[in-house]
Amino acid sequence: SLTAGIVGLPNVGKSTLFNAITQAGAESANYPFCTIDPNVGIVEVPDDRLDKLTELVHPKKTIPTAFEFTDIAGIVKGASKGEGLGNQFLSHIRQVDAICEVVRCFTDENITHVSGKIDPIDDIEIINLELILADLETINKRYQRVEKLARQKDKEAVAEFTVLEKLKEALEAEKPARSVDFSDEQMKIVKGLHLLTSKPMLYVANVSEDEVANPSENEHVKKVKEYAANEGSEVIVICAKIEAEIAELEAEEKQMFLEELGIAESGLDQLIKASYTLLGLATYFTAGEQEVRAWTFKKGMKAPQAAGIIHSDFEKGFIRAETVSYEDLIEAGSMVHAREKGKVRLEGKDYVVQDGDVMHFRFNV
Ligand code: GDP
Repeated sequence: SLTAGIVGLPNVGKSTLFNAITQAGAESANYPFCTIDPNVGIVEVPDDRLDKLTELVHPKKTIPTAFEFTDIAGIVKGASKGEGLGNQFLSHIRQVDAICEVVRCFTDENITHVSGKIDPIDDIEIINLELILADLETINKRYQRVEKLARQKDKEAVAEFTVLEKLKEALEAEKPARSVDFSDEQMKIVKGLHLLTSKPMLYVANVSEDEVANPSENEHVKKVKEYAANEGSEVIVICAKIEAEIAELEAEEKQMFLEELGIAESGLDQLIKASYTLLGLATYFTAGEQEVRAWTFKKGMKAPQAAGIIHSDFEKGFIRAETVSYEDLIEAGSMVHAREKGKVRLEGKDYVVQDGDVMHFRFNV
């Protein structure tokens, strides 16, 4: 399954946030396939639609879908030089599908900052530079080999060489690969290079307790947003300290606490949703009397593949998927009514599953 890695310089609030993630942790009994690794935190994906479906169907149980965050410790200046901890840091980043970078935007005289001052753009650039240098090394290794082949007019090599040249230029100007525009064809080549700076990035601005309701007043946050917009990345604003407190509360208390603080949605919920979107993930539902359940799939997946997420037999023996959109089902009020209104479709193996589809798979055993 896809995972987002959490990175950040020391003392930015990374551990505080990761602790909140593991505290809020999903009930692991529901997710036996998930990794048991102290560096992986599994959270349930908040989804109001699941509550509505539960009210409609009255199942014995309701199971949200889950999402994994990986804690990636140990960023140090010079990581790309490939020594010890630095090397480990980069190889951990290589294994994740998206990066959430925690950036310190809170002031607290008691907590020292590694650079001696609060400067989120400087912090971001320290980490990004290490990733850029590592990518540049990857590119340079390929560059010479591909250049030779391209000179011999090898068609594939010519195409790759164009891509490598564009990437080299950007990286040498200290710009991440994700900021470069490529055609769809070229994008395939870029993917094959497994670059660190082409992974989608989410900046997590960590602000003080008293600023979280009004983050636009924080100058640091403004700068982070500008920086992110320039490279086409997203930003969310949280207060890690508050998240750690919220994670210990029951659902009802949590709602009250958030209202008192003047926040519509907890930072952790925002983080989960933003990471989910960043990874191109979406949710379909199964809704039976035994169980109403949300399932994560990758956008663009066809019905058999999506069925395979539940069980490989569903994919192998796939016949059809009875499908109704969440909106149509809620509007109809019940599965029976949805069927009467002709809203339940029988989809075949080429159907591209949509976010919010409520599905019932038919398969051969
Ligand atoms: P890490 O080194 O990035 O993992 O940082 P930690 O999570 O250990 O946080 C470093 C220090 O900053 C700890 O003393 C935290 O309590 C404090 N801290 C983290 N987030 C916040 C925050 O949002 N506000 C304030 N005031 N302190 C925070």
